[in-house]
Amino acid sequence: MNRKPLHLKKDRDRLAAHLPDPDQWIRGSLREAYLNCGRAQCRCHGAKRYRHGPYWYLSWTDSKGRTKSSLISPADLGRIRKGLNAYGKLWESICKISEINVALIKSQGSR
Ligand SMILES: [Zn+2]
Repeated sequence: MNRKPLHLKKDRDRLAAHLPDPDQWIRGSLREAYLNCGRAQCRCHGAKRYRHGPYWYLSWTDSKGRTKSSLISPADLGRIRKGLNAYGKLWESICKISEINVALIKSQGSR
């Protein structure tokens, strides 16, 4: 990064001003699952292609490093996907802002 400090600060301000709204942030990944049911006579027990689904699960790691998972209703999938995209954009901006902050410190020299 060899932009001038003034440009770097402007880049940082622009990134910070365009962060996604917090009500959209969703961290994790979606997983599709096909499952057997509890009815012994159901054909889902005979062949994988008859399993029920898809069911969607959101998995994520919480702040203590524990893996969490939640069943997502099909009606909520669109909003969940939108939230995952927003989180990706947020994370990308955080990484860029961090790089800018390091570049700014380095441009100031050691004190
Ligand atoms: Zn079944």
